[in-house]
Amino acid sequence: MTKGELIYNGKSKSIYKIEGEQHHVIQTFKDDVTAFNGEKHEEIPNKGYFCNQISASIFRYLEAKGIKTHFVLPYSGYEMIVKKLEMIPIEVVVRNVAAGSLTRRLGLERGKKIVFVATGSDPNTHIQEVPIVEYYYKNDELGDPLINDNHILTFGLADQSTLYSINHLARHINTFLKEYFKNINLILVDFKLEFGKDKKSDIILADDINPEGCRLWDMDTNVSYDKDLFRTGDGDFGLALEEVYKKINFSSIP
Ligand code: ADP
Ligand code: UDP
Repeated sequence: MTKGELIYNGKSKSIYKIEGEQHHVIQTFKDDVTAFNGEKHEEIPNKGYFCNQISASIFRYLEAKGIKTHFVLPYSGYEMIVKKLEMIPIEVVVRNVAAGSLTRRLGLERGKKIVFVATGSDPNTHIQEVPIVEYYYKNDELGDPLINDNHILTFGLADQSTLYSINHLARHINTFLKEYFKNINLILVDFKLEFGKDKKSDIILADDINPEGCRLWDMDTNVSYDKDLFRTGDGDFGLALEEVYKKINFSSIP
């Protein structure tokens, strides 16, 4: 397979055509890292390599659990061949623990576990961990604003059945990923997903999953192993990526 022309040049990845191929593209991970909608920008050596390898490992794991992903094959250290999809312009965020914009928006304490307390005579007997699923409109100019089901349906970002499937898939993926990270002693605090549709209109998990779009905390110390280290400047994001990569490769995750 020969790499063709650049189709899309994003903040952390690029998408390339494959010569003579219509249904697949090459997704290339960059060493660039940005935060605050592009205001903070640096290059971290090998970041693209680690994000590509971690994403590939997670896509393989999710495929084994029955989740359809766009991952097809590795192409190079920094690149993977993926199914070319019509992307749904929604960023789906799943949260298990309060952090980031949720704490700022609702004045919550960082680290507060997200639980659902059923109303009734004795609420303590009905406490369950139920993740919060949020939607953001994927639009850099507007700073990816928070939206709800009504916005999505009214403005035609997705139809009812697509939205239902996305929500359902996001919750399943969360269950599998919590287990995946628990194996390497990390808490999955929150993460972002993107979905697209293939030529049969099947909904496929796309983009990437790695510590650039997830919050991961050490189970014993609550130390971050994710992009918050870059956002705050309080640690070495490159080193954290390498450590997550090593944990995955030296663990018994399938
Ligand atoms: P951004 O667009 O926010 O700068 P990236 O740098 O991650 O983000 O760029 C990757 C782009 O590729 C994103 O816009 C994403 O929606 C898109 N994308 C991810 N997977 C696929 C796919 N399988 N087919 C087509 N586009 C994809
Ligand atoms: N996230 C992402 N891309 C975005 C926005 C958020 O990957 O454009 C991820 C982020 O890394 C975190 C989760 O989604 O794991 C929730 O992000 P949040 O809404 O808390 O925003 P933040 O405070 O991180 O900007």
